Amino acid sequence: MKDEISLAVELANSLKKKDKLHAYVLTGAGTSRASNIPTFRGEDGLWEKYNFEEVATLNAWLKNPVKIWTFYVEGIQLILDSEPNPAHIAIAELEAKNFCQYVITQNADGLHQKAGSKNVLEIHGNLTRVRCTKCNKKQVFTEPPKDIPPKCGCGSMYRPDVVLFNEQLPSDLITKSFTIAKKVDLAIIVGTSAEVVPAATLPFISKESGVKVLVFNKEKTDHIRIADVFIQGKCEETLPAFVERLSKN
Ligand SMILES: [Zn+2]
Repeated sequence: MKDEISLAVELANSLKKKDKLHAYVLTGAGTSRASNIPTFRGEDGLWEKYNFEEVATLNAWLKNPVKIWTFYVEGIQLILDSEPNPAHIAIAELEAKNFCQYVITQNADGLHQKAGSKNVLEIHGNLTRVRCTKCNKKQVFTEPPKDIPPKCGCGSMYRPDVVLFNEQLPSDLITKSFTIAKKVDLAIIVGTSAEVVPAATLPFISKESGVKVLVFNKEKTDHIRIADVFIQGKCEETLPAFVERLSKN
């Protein structure tokens, strides 16, 4: 009997056109787990120590900037110190070899870019980037800000460029993600639960559009119902094995 990775490689190879694979990768928290990224939400998330609504809303940032920025800077340092793991590197390799053109990620840690991915759609934003609460100017941190709260040249406070509690996801990126999900030949779903919408919807949209779906995940999720191949395991182990075998053919 063939193992799942062989089946996934076989399927991906059958979809290649002139050595090119038209695909997107969708990633979630599981992709960054091996990089020890602190999660801001969920069990043992950084925000669990705090009252979520006290720190994760724009109102809270505006009301209590020093307190919240001080807390936030701790998390930023951990993220800036973290390194991409083999799953991020394998995904960057897919793009470099033209086996995938888009990375749609729910992670806000910037590790895909650190690993070398170029076309990354960060639908939940980026924790190391800030934007002005007034003029919307953006800036990327390479080290945590020294002045708390950090301010834009226009004199207004910066806020993290992430989707906070009760905020809408950026509609331009969501629209683009849905278009991508329909038009490719292969969807590669990596380390994401099928719980957070709208990202969780993308694999279903792909399937309905006749796109083949590969699911790499440690746990069984709702996405395995529509997976053409489900590769169960740690994505930092299964994905590099998949990419290596895909490259050989
Ligand atoms: Zn400004």
